[in-house]
Amino acid sequence: MESILRVEGLTKYFPIRKGFLGRTVGSVKAVDDVRLTVNKGETFGLVGESGCGKSTLGRCLLRATEPTGGSILFRDRSGAELDVGRLDKPGLRNVRRDMQLVFQDPYSSLNPRMTVTEIVGEPLICHGIAKGSELRRRVVELIEMVGLSARQLDRYPHAFSGGQRQRICIARALATSPRFLVCDEAVSALDVSVQAQILNLLRELQERLELSYLFISHDLGVIRHISDKVGVMYVGKLVETASTGELFERPFHPYTEALLSAKPIPDPRRKAERIVLAGEVANPANPPSGCYFHPRCPYARDVCKTAAPPMKQVAKDHVVACHFAGELQLRGAL
Ligand code: SF4
Ligand code: MG
Repeated sequence: MESILRVEGLTKYFPIRKGFLGRTVGSVKAVDDVRLTVNKGETFGLVGESGCGKSTLGRCLLRATEPTGGSILFRDRSGAELDVGRLDKPGLRNVRRDMQLVFQDPYSSLNPRMTVTEIVGEPLICHGIAKGSELRRRVVELIEMVGLSARQLDRYPHAFSGGQRQRICIARALATSPRFLVCDEAVSALDVSVQAQILNLLRELQERLELSYLFISHDLGVIRHISDKVGVMYVGKLVETASTGELFERPFHPYTEALLSAKPIPDPRRKAERIVLAGEVANPANPPSGCYFHPRCPYARDVCKTAAPPMKQVAKDHVVACHFAGELQLRGAL
C-alpha cells in the first residue's frame, strides 16, 4: 500500500523560560523522535493519556505548530513526496489545502457570528477555489455530504446540536478537497450515541473521498472502532505501533497492557484484571532516565533505569519500544 504521510524523527521541544529576561532553562519534549507512516485510505489512531503530546504531534504535521526537527513527507497529488518541514509560505499554503484539522470542541471552533454558509465558504474564498453562484453550489454540496440540509445554511452555530456542529466543522475541513485529515479528539465532546454517528460519517467520507486520517483520541473504544493502525504515545514518544487487531489482542508494551486493562472488556473469557499503574505520568519537562515508563512499569529491571529502549520489530508492522518486548508474559494479553 502506498503511503500518504511518512514521519521520521519528529521532535517538538518547547523551551522553558524563567525570570525577567526569559532565560531558557530547559525544554519540554512534547514530541520526541516519533516515526510513523499513514497509508492512503487508512486511519492511523493515536492514543495516550492527556498531555502526552498527541495534539502537538498532530499540529506539527501541518506546521500549525512548528516542529523542532525531523521530516514530514507528504505525498502530493502527482505522487511525489513533499518535505512539509522545508516548504516556504506559498508551498505550505498549497499543502494545507490537502491537509486539514478537525478539532475537539465544535462549540468553540465555530465563530458564533458567522452563518453556516460563511463558515463552510470561508476556506473556498481564502484559497480562491470558488465564488458567486459556484461558491453557493459547493457549500450546498459540502453540507449535504455531511448529512445536513441546504435549508440550514443561513443559520448560526447556536441553532445546532453538538453533533450537527461537528458536522459543520467536518464540512469546513472538506471544503478544500483535502486528502488527509488530522482529527484531534473530534468526537470527545459528544454523547456516545452521537459519537457513533460522527465516526460512521467519517468512515463513509473516507471511502467516498479516499481520505486518510490521523485520528487522535484518549478513548481506546473510539480508537478501536475507527483505526486501521494504532500508535500508543507516552510522554512524547510512540512506544508501540501495530494494526488495530494485533494491538488489542497482542499488546507487547507494558504501558499498552495497562491502558487496555483499564477499559472494560466485553469478552467474558478474558481475564478482566485491571492493572493499576503506580505513580504519576512522567513530567515531560523532566522525564525519568532510561525508559520513561520505568518508574511505573511492573516489569522494570535495572537496565530500564539507565538505557532508553530501542524500537524493536516484534511482528509484521508491529514495533515496540521496550527492552523486553516479546519476552514478557503480559497479564493483559489473552
Ligand atoms: Fe518496562 Fe523496562 Fe520495558 Fe520500559 S523497557 S516498558 S521499564 S520493561
Ligand atoms: Mg490533546
